[in-house]
Amino acid sequence: MLALGGITRIFGTFDGVRAMMESALTARDRVGVQDFVLLENFTSEAAFIENLRKRFKENLIYTYIGSVLVSVNPYKDLEIYTKNHMERYRGVNFYEVSPHIYAVADNSYRSMRTERKDQCILISGESGAGKTEASKKILQYYAFTCPASEQVQTIKDRLLQSNPVLEAFGNAKTLRNDNSSRFGKYMDIQFDFKGAPVGGHIINYLLEKSRVVHQNHGERNFHIFYQLIEGGEEDLLRALGLERNPQQYQYLVKGNCPKVSSINDRSDWKMVRKALTVIGFNEDEVEELLNIIASVLHLGNVQYGGEEGNVCITSDTQIKYLARLLGVNGAVLTEALTHKKIIAKGEELMSPLNLEQASSARDALSKAVYGRTFTWLVNKINASLTYTNYSVIGLLDIYGFEVFQHNSFEQFCINYCNEKLQQLFIELTLKSEQEEYEAEGITVRHHFLLSLSEKFKGIISILDEECLRPGDASDLTFLEKLEDTVGGHAHFVTHKLADAKTRKVMGRDEFRLLHYAGEVNYNVNGFLDKNNDLLFRNLKEVTSFPILFPSSLHPFLTSFSLFSVCLCLPLQAATQFKASLAKLMEILMSKEPSYIRCIKPNDSKQAGRFDEVLIRHQVKYLGLMENLRVRRAGFAYRRRYEVFLQRYKSLCPDTWPNWQGKLADGVATLVKHLGYKPEEYKLGRSKIFIRFPKTLFATEEALETR
Ligand code: ATP
Ligand code: MG
Repeated sequence: MLALGGITRIFGTFDGVRAMMESALTARDRVGVQDFVLLENFTSEAAFIENLRKRFKENLIYTYIGSVLVSVNPYKDLEIYTKNHMERYRGVNFYEVSPHIYAVADNSYRSMRTERKDQCILISGESGAGKTEASKKILQYYAFTCPASEQVQTIKDRLLQSNPVLEAFGNAKTLRNDNSSRFGKYMDIQFDFKGAPVGGHIINYLLEKSRVVHQNHGERNFHIFYQLIEGGEEDLLRALGLERNPQQYQYLVKGNCPKVSSINDRSDWKMVRKALTVIGFNEDEVEELLNIIASVLHLGNVQYGGEEGNVCITSDTQIKYLARLLGVNGAVLTEALTHKKIIAKGEELMSPLNLEQASSARDALSKAVYGRTFTWLVNKINASLTYTNYSVIGLLDIYGFEVFQHNSFEQFCINYCNEKLQQLFIELTLKSEQEEYEAEGITVRHHFLLSLSEKFKGIISILDEECLRPGDASDLTFLEKLEDTVGGHAHFVTHKLADAKTRKVMGRDEFRLLHYAGEVNYNVNGFLDKNNDLLFRNLKEVTSFPILFPSSLHPFLTSFSLFSVCLCLPLQAATQFKASLAKLMEILMSKEPSYIRCIKPNDSKQAGRFDEVLIRHQVKYLGLMENLRVRRAGFAYRRRYEVFLQRYKSLCPDTWPNWQGKLADGVATLVKHLGYKPEEYKLGRSKIFIRFPKTLFATEEALETR
């Protein structure tokens, strides 16, 4: 828990002796306070943002709210991640040094070591805010500062090298971030009794599979495709039947963005190849992996023609490559991509697909293949990291709260996740505050209501019901069912249920949820299809797919045939996600959390630009004002008696130069002498708790002007 100390003598606002301390004050005004709890006007969002702005201008990108770290993406390399910096933060108290991500990493590490309690670090923020960079900095910090042996070094290398691999397959260039993670990630780093990292485990969430077949203008597919095409050796490309030109591939041309100035696909390819080797992929496995990646590109180039109702594939080239790379029979594949199996009068018949059905079947297959490959990769990485589970620090790098002009199923899932995390945050923060007060024998009552995310639960079950209901189920019947069932909930509204004012800003095909971070309108179009996870839907329709994958094939494709057997029981996407989130919450609840809240300063990825409107939104979505209020609800500062006495003993003749009696009595004598009023502080078993920053500032000031 962060104690008072951080304010030291540099920060805060002072009354009275302003003239005398003018030069020092200028510095304070310039750099702001390094902990938001020190803001006098702590309920003012304007004061909050002004403090962020001041610090950002001075390249001070980190600021605390108590023990929560707020980080603003500098969009430039600051010289603050050197080995010297790592050394500086190793083993020091949180408040003795300026705010830094290394302080958070170090604090978690030491709590894990001394209190034997598993830790987790939750990193949140919107796309481009710096979450992934933050998680990499933490990993690097542990790799550098923790003890090592030869065996540990291998694990450290694998942990570090899992990043370029997962980024190659799971990240892409989007409008908002050139290296955007298109999946959520939770990673456990496991430490042995000596505190050395000896293992790890990764769980991935909701990969954005639709990107495989479609990208918006100015965006790209996953990095790996371009890396392979730009960097792959001549022989390799020939074997895969690929040309060195991304524009040749339908799945890569949609965004019209083959090159990105900040990305060097060729050198990234080398790095990824090396990383695969470090993680322990053998040559055969790499070959299989690349066969699959190439197959997806070939699949995208499968073009359909022929008459409606009698669709055919217009060129054989892709089928030939696909047959070879996937090890399937070309004729069977062709039939699977153009026909569906139906059962009429007890007999199985192959019925031709129309053009639209055929291309969506092809795309569904591509997405499924890619999605499976990604899961296989994560499993392989996990297998290469031994699992000991002695002590653990978990890192969560997950998409932040999202609100667009048009919000769909994806935003619904992402925001559900954020609502749950926020709920967890409030619960855990209140819990730990309360525990500390109790341990110190102090009674404080918090008046915060927990905003429960229960409202989502009903929505997801109704969605599932509609997905499974035969007959006329559609996105709109889903909306109607919602109105009937959760329509009465204070946090839910639709066009029909809304008042006249709200109705003006809502479509008839939308529902609105009131999240902790604000209102979001969700458009129901596509909810059913997406929840069915098109793969299943198409596999259901094109049931000849399973014969594509006899058990002798690729290990990670064979499970398709397993899937086909289970088709009657597929879990809907939202329910699956809900279940995996519930599991995540369980994992996080069993650990002591630290939080990093990342903020993106502008939309143009520029250094030095502080876009206030954009930042205000994020302060809201990240719940930072709420966070500050919780933190300030009780006592803003707490400090151990010996530390407090040591710092201020010179201010009282009875405690100077040394207090001989009990520490608590010394502190009581000291604060009495300083004129603290009873409502300003409380004395616990080992700490003094101070309610307002101004009390402390006055004491600091007394120290300076003594
Ligand atoms: P997404 O949700 O899209 O994955 P993200 O929050 O993970 O976004 P990052 O990929 O971590 O965002 O950061 C985006 C870019 O911002 C980085 O590629 C890097 O250029 C820059 N950046 C982030 N953090 C820092 C930092 N601490 N110092 C310098 N540059 C940074
Ligand atoms: Mg990221």
